[in-house]
Amino acid sequence: MTEIQFHNTMTGLTEPFVPLVPGVVSCYTCGPTVYDFAHVGNFRTFVFQDVLRRYLKSQGFRIIQVMNLTDVDDRIIQKAAAAGVSIREYTDKYIRAYLEDRRALNLQLPEFVARATEHIDDMVKLIERLTEKGFTYTSDGSTYFRISKFPAYGKLSKIDVAGMQTGARVDMDRYDKDNARDFALWKAPKPGEHFWETRIGPGRPGWHIECSAMAMKYLGDTLDIHSGGVDLVFPHHENEIAESEGATGKQFARYWLHAEHLLVDHEKMSKSVGNFATLRELFAHGTKPSSVRFLLASVPYRRQLNFSPEGLQGAASSVERLRTFSARVRSGKFPAGASPEMESRAAKAREDFDNALADDLNTAQALAAIFDLIRDANIAMDRGEFREADVTQVLAALETFDAIFAVLHDDDAEKLRALGIAQDSTGPSDAEIEALVAERQAARKRRDFAASDRIRDQLAQSGVILEDSRDGDVRWKRK
Ligand code: AMP
Ligand code: ZN
Repeated sequence: MTEIQFHNTMTGLTEPFVPLVPGVVSCYTCGPTVYDFAHVGNFRTFVFQDVLRRYLKSQGFRIIQVMNLTDVDDRIIQKAAAAGVSIREYTDKYIRAYLEDRRALNLQLPEFVARATEHIDDMVKLIERLTEKGFTYTSDGSTYFRISKFPAYGKLSKIDVAGMQTGARVDMDRYDKDNARDFALWKAPKPGEHFWETRIGPGRPGWHIECSAMAMKYLGDTLDIHSGGVDLVFPHHENEIAESEGATGKQFARYWLHAEHLLVDHEKMSKSVGNFATLRELFAHGTKPSSVRFLLASVPYRRQLNFSPEGLQGAASSVERLRTFSARVRSGKFPAGASPEMESRAAKAREDFDNALADDLNTAQALAAIFDLIRDANIAMDRGEFREADVTQVLAALETFDAIFAVLHDDDAEKLRALGIAQDSTGPSDAEIEALVAERQAARKRRDFAASDRIRDQLAQSGVILEDSRDGDVRWKRK
């Protein structure tokens, strides 16, 4: 078996991956904060986590994966209050949407999906343990973690805490490295805010303690792989380490894997910048779920990925190419027998595919192995050199590929129906509409009004309305 190597943020090295218990991998996956629909940037990290899971499974490991749903934090409390509903009611809607979105992208469900609000008692217990060991103090009803009591603080994000003002506190869940401070484990309620009545007083948990408590509850004191996007390294994961290792005195996670960001025009896609798209928005405008999954999976997770319409189009045509090839192999009539070259060609593609993924999940290289095979097999078929028995070999290579990429099965229309999105698969895409609009403009210019009207009617039948402005511009929208 090939040696699997992962890049570990903790050591900064790409290391051989060996789980603690042979044959079993325990994974903790930081899930979404369910204050709104997740955006494509979030899904870059979730797709990476799914590729990681599927790859380990393909190598014969049993996976025990826990994913949290952060259903209480600063933003959720604010948003639920603004909407005048309970936290539960507010977050239920976005949890449902998130799980539906995951299905659209063929993300396998982890063994445990844990809601923070259903684990308050586990968090309280962990805070009590930290208090017994002298890691905490209280101020105005809130409990803080004293980072000066944990000398290893900063070991993941490599921040230097020496010389930092001790006792300075931060109440927010999210803050930057320059503000490394004692952080809130438990927050006293502000007037009108939802709170839990507990042994450590009324209040609500900080974000970081949620993950520490839930990770250790399901996976024990030490787990194999902890993952998330790079923005979680500090403070979230640094604080999780302080909380968990402070309480147990044992190593919390053995491998830390972080996905680089999805960018838009070289800036991180994020809600706060406003440069984000949800899956549903993309789907409603003609993008197929398989294109999104393929695009996000195709770039190795430690490389930044710039999100663009061209990238999506490229992904769509790659998926099309894979599906067309698969159909050609399945339905083609080939002469009896086997060609030894094709057999070894397919075996080599599988080997290259596995080796690429073993190298810290190099998905781009893994794809290259499959596309090379497709090219060679197509040439062999065109020349009549592809034989009946080669079908099995080539399909086996495609299966190896699809166990990870999960885009071969053409169920995009079904996926969209499940989301209640009426994307007419025979209807025109944005690019096609633009082309027709340009064609109509050209017809009008040469005063061919019959052609211009025909195009207008054709678009109307596909549900696209044109608005001619006085200055000669044309705007279009879908009904
Ligand atoms: P949140 O819901 O904000 O806790 O984020 C959920 C996951 O999405 C975390 O693992 C983040 O690191 C990740 N994430 C947020 N923005 C991006 C982005 N632009 N690209 C990749 N991952 C992201
Ligand atoms: Zn987390």
